[in-house]
Amino acid sequence: MSSIDQAISIKYNNLVYELKATGHDIITLSLGEAFFDIPAPDFSGFDVAELHHYSHSRGVPELRRRLAKYYEDRFGPSVDPDQEMIITAGSKAAIYMTLLAVLEPGDEVIMTEPFWLSYPAHVRLCRGEPVMVAHQESLFDLERHITARTRVIIINNPNNPTGKVYTAAELDHLHALATRHGLLLLVDEAYNEFVAPGTAFVSAAVGDPERLHTVTVNSMSKNFGISGWRIGYLIAHRRIVDEVLKLNQHLVTCAPTILAGYLAGHFDELISRTRPQIQQAVAMRATAAGWLADAGIDTLPGEATFYLFGSLGESSLNSDAFATRLLRERGVCVVPGIAYGESCDRHIRISVGTESPERTRRGIAAIRSLIDATRT
Ligand code: PMP
Repeated sequence: MSSIDQAISIKYNNLVYELKATGHDIITLSLGEAFFDIPAPDFSGFDVAELHHYSHSRGVPELRRRLAKYYEDRFGPSVDPDQEMIITAGSKAAIYMTLLAVLEPGDEVIMTEPFWLSYPAHVRLCRGEPVMVAHQESLFDLERHITARTRVIIINNPNNPTGKVYTAAELDHLHALATRHGLLLLVDEAYNEFVAPGTAFVSAAVGDPERLHTVTVNSMSKNFGISGWRIGYLIAHRRIVDEVLKLNQHLVTCAPTILAGYLAGHFDELISRTRPQIQQAVAMRATAAGWLADAGIDTLPGEATFYLFGSLGESSLNSDAFATRLLRERGVCVVPGIAYGESCDRHIRISVGTESPERTRRGIAAIRSLIDATRT
């Protein structure tokens, strides 16, 4: 465990909870979710007695069917909900269990920076070696990081924290690498709904409809605005699903049955309720990108999600020192870029999913003023 750090984003958010509890007003640009107006669950009409218990450890069958249909309608490739899918207690668990199922000690997993911060921790927990690729490197040069020990390439599409959406050409390249070197391509699509109407999002399974080398993980946390419910899922070849199933059975048995049952019953209603709010969050991101540009703060390229990855420009501070001072001195919380890889220590993640436009704007002004106050 000594090689594993606390999740830095969660560490900062815990600080926010503590400061708020002692009466501080914190502009919170650090949370990894967008807040939506969604109805309180109403279980009338459900057979609650059945939902109080364990379900099939692949997940409540009706939710698997709904998710398979969603996936087909949205992206094209068909999914067998009984063989090629498993519902997990959040997608975090799906990623970890997939890595646990496929890695031998010492196997390498390639991840491009900025990566989602749990990937290297998951790899290390599986006794694997994360191979981190600096953000300045082109995806088309990734092959030079592949060795005889490489087993998996993991990407997050759309990306947290930049908002980048991978192009079809980039995904084709990754599929070609996976085929050529016998690798698994693990694609985390937790933010797939957070894409502006003009942007083409291609799910990873499109380039590998038989799922020979592709595992797709996704989640209800962001798309349905219910991160606390802990419902995620994985779509893969049955050979991998069957291995993950064993882990799921021994670790958690099944995702929360009553919540999965509720989601199966209200799937269309909930997604039609969140979609317009998701588009508002994506629009808010575009607005905030404009405010950052006006303030002279550069961001790494991206257009999806509700995150922006802002540069610290002329500040002399590293990202952790900057985020700590921003919180302590100016009451604004962001996540330091170092959480997303060594090459990202000159950046901070700014999330616009939870604060009002006015407070977000004040937060950006505070970032600008701290950069100015700490110029080299
Ligand atoms: N992947 C990414 C990229 C995320 O940002 C998150 C949550 N912050 C997750 C996976 C995990 O989400 P959950 O376990 O709630 O499905």
